[in-house]
Amino acid sequence: MTEKLQGSSFIGFARGQGNGGDFQAMNAASGEALAPAYSAVTGDEFERAMALAKEAFPKYSVLPAQKRAEFLRKTAENIDAAVDDFSVRGPLETALPEGRMRGETGRTSGQLRLFASLIEEGSWVNARIEHALPDREPIPKPDVRSMLVPLGPVAVFCASNFPLAFSVSGGDTASALASGCPVVVKAHHSHLGMAELVGDCVVRAAQETGMPEGVFSLLYGGRDIGTGLVAHPVTQAVGFTGSRGGGTALMKVAAERAQPIPVYAEMSSINPVVFLPGALAEKGAALAEGFFGSLTLGAGQFCTNPGLIFLPEEGADEFLSQLAEQVSGGPGVTMLNSGIYDAYLDRVKELGASQGVALLAAAPVVDHQATPAVFTVSVEDFVAQPDLQDECFGPATLIVQGSVDEITAALGDLEGQLTGSIFGTDAELAEASDLVGTLQSRVGRVMFNNFPTGVEVCHSMVHGGPYPSTSDGRSTSVGTLSIERFCRYAAWQSFPESALPEELKDENPRGISRLVDGKYSH
Ligand code: NAP
Repeated sequence: MTEKLQGSSFIGFARGQGNGGDFQAMNAASGEALAPAYSAVTGDEFERAMALAKEAFPKYSVLPAQKRAEFLRKTAENIDAAVDDFSVRGPLETALPEGRMRGETGRTSGQLRLFASLIEEGSWVNARIEHALPDREPIPKPDVRSMLVPLGPVAVFCASNFPLAFSVSGGDTASALASGCPVVVKAHHSHLGMAELVGDCVVRAAQETGMPEGVFSLLYGGRDIGTGLVAHPVTQAVGFTGSRGGGTALMKVAAERAQPIPVYAEMSSINPVVFLPGALAEKGAALAEGFFGSLTLGAGQFCTNPGLIFLPEEGADEFLSQLAEQVSGGPGVTMLNSGIYDAYLDRVKELGASQGVALLAAAPVVDHQATPAVFTVSVEDFVAQPDLQDECFGPATLIVQGSVDEITAALGDLEGQLTGSIFGTDAELAEASDLVGTLQSRVGRVMFNNFPTGVEVCHSMVHGGPYPSTSDGRSTSVGTLSIERFCRYAAWQSFPESALPEELKDENPRGISRLVDGKYSH
């Protein structure tokens, strides 16, 4: 499998030569370098990729949806066919197990196919038509029609924790390509070989389906390349998943451009889980077991990892003792890379040293492996220390105990989160409208009797949330609604029927759902 890797960027359909062996992928478990050496893109190659993307945009964006869908489906097919390669290289680079690589392969190809179906169906453009009223008094009304159109070339940053589903051909790339935007991807240093394997799948699909060359490039390089990509005048939007520091640094670069552009960054979230007394009384031990599973899934390296629990002061003993028992015997797991492992150790230390924070339970320390830990704090101490809301990326969580009123007040002051969960009985939920409303105001997705890990890729999913969980809480990075991030509304006024896009013609040749003169029609 290593022989399939060349260690260089994809500049459109060509391979970059780079500067020659600048950095190497690491075996996440042993720390040893993995062949081949990777070359950072040269300045000329970078400019060539951007020029190709610029050139491709006017051609690619006007292709019939069926053609773009063919490209997405072919990419999905190539990705499925490469699953054995992913299953060998992925575990080496990320320490994620083979089963996870296989599962993520299906999710990645599945979301490409979902976007292909979406654009083939066509109603996603939200077409609106208002016919002219030439005789209207006091002034005539013009014919105005509008719909979503693609923004232009999109820069995508791969995520360390999803080498497939949030990386080279993950959700950001799939949604941007579906909308009609070319994509330039910046590989993540944590899985260089995986990036190349997936990049090859996308480039072959683009060639096989006759796409313009600059529809996709994959660049290797350091932070200068990432910053340069966001700053480059050709780039019109950014998709990012990673740290708050990285996301906010790129937001600043985007805002300071001569032409500022949107950055859709998914950054940090601790995903509060509230347990109400009735649920704890009914099944405290089972809830603790379920929570432990969610906390330790993938060594806690998920954006939806539950890093914060709210518990009532009374009736939580069974939950607490069961959780403590599970955590004490919890496994040690190798993390994605040494930087993430070091950051986890530092954050656990910081949490433990915070005012009023006590350790409830921790698994025995294993060298170079993340082990679970649970801390407790009173609601007063939690509210007094906003730093306790900082993300701890890994299998550690903080339990805050207080009355339902105190918990509701504390939730109201939480930073923006991707998710918020409430566990209770139906009767408790009916009585908890303040708590639900408060939680909903702070999160993108509110859940009842569900743990936060596991995000369904579907039409109605919202995987976004107020800052800092994302840079723009009006968006989602999972599900088909994510396509809207890379579009803008455009209107056509008094245009002849023959010159209008298909979606806006009176006879509706694409047969899509539209809002016509204020009424939805199909
Ligand atoms: P990261 O450090 O933010 O890196 C993500 C990508 O952004 C990488 O390609 C990185 O380049 C680039 N980058 C970061 N800072 C930059 C800057 N100032 N200028 C230009 N480019 C920059 O995130 P990570 O490596 O995935 O993980 C680090 C931490 O992020 C984790 O410990 C965790 O706290 C958090 N994280 C959160 C989530 C989430 O969904 N909530 C997911 C993953 C990670 P390089 O490759 O060159 O470093």
